[in-house]
Amino acid sequence: MVKREELYVGVDLGGTNVRAAVIDAAGHVLGQEKHRLLSREPPQVAEAVVRAAKTACGAAGMPFTEMKGMGLGVAGWIQKGTGVVMNAPNLGWREVPFLKLVQARAPKLPLWIGNDLSVAAGGERAAGAGRGVDDLLVVLVGSGVGAGIILGGKLHEGASNVAGELGHVMVHPGGRQCGCGQRGCLEAYAGGHNLAAWARDDLRIALAAARAAGQRHPNVGRKLLEIAGEPEKVTAAAMEKAAHEGDELSRRLLEEAGDLLGIALANLITVLNPARLLLGGGVLNGSPRMMRAAIAQVDAHTTKAARLALQITAPELGEQAGVVGAALLARASLALAA
Ligand SMILES: [Zn+2]
Repeated sequence: MVKREELYVGVDLGGTNVRAAVIDAAGHVLGQEKHRLLSREPPQVAEAVVRAAKTACGAAGMPFTEMKGMGLGVAGWIQKGTGVVMNAPNLGWREVPFLKLVQARAPKLPLWIGNDLSVAAGGERAAGAGRGVDDLLVVLVGSGVGAGIILGGKLHEGASNVAGELGHVMVHPGGRQCGCGQRGCLEAYAGGHNLAAWARDDLRIALAAARAAGQRHPNVGRKLLEIAGEPEKVTAAAMEKAAHEGDELSRRLLEEAGDLLGIALANLITVLNPARLLLGGGVLNGSPRMMRAAIAQVDAHTTKAARLALQITAPELGEQAGVVGAALLARASLALAA
């Protein structure tokens, strides 16, 4: 029998979907709901979040009014102490007082908000591949690149809640344009959309050179072009497939992105000395080549003592990490505040 006072709702808010689940103290999902966001207007999103939470409660057979609290994980920078979403590129938000908007629709419910990577790290530590690990890094490479950091058993969010922005460490000063406005960030090379854009740029150059030489097709990237159809349709997945079929351009870029990721990881591991690194995300899971390159750099460039202490494995919770982590972090932080 589940004790009702132990139940929290976890919400994972992405740019496309909102996911909510009722979570018990052990991190088990008792009921859940996922739906597409019909609007990205903050009041409508707040409405959708509360609706998803109530539907998840219904699925768990528990009244919403009996939830002890709700945790929200949002992909973006959340201002410490205010719950204002300062910047969430996937939602197109700047300075949105999101916690207040949700609170207005669930006035009595204690709320907690954190960023998606922190939430994923909290979830993996409580109920996934980081169980019982006090010094844990969770690094996910998808369209964005980010790290969730747990040090000494505590989530490390930093002085202004922006710790873990691994995607924006500098790997090539003055290099490719990143979505954050800087040039040469890791994410400008290893993030899924940017990696594909990098391949498109190199393909266009190869196409122009081939045409200038009177050839119809370039030698470089020919396989990638065949698989994608045209440069505009290149994706990280198409690059992996092309590399597998011998495409030199795709192989070079995937390995270079993996190398840059691996060097950034090696530096992070040398500084933080974690016991475990959970390495995953859509792009890395889709590209064994990039994963191998990254791990080879970690092996080559991490200090020996830090490397010996480190285990590298895959996250376990997948898409559930967000809801589980949000609920359990809400539980931990609201219980401390009470
Ligand atoms: Zn950046």
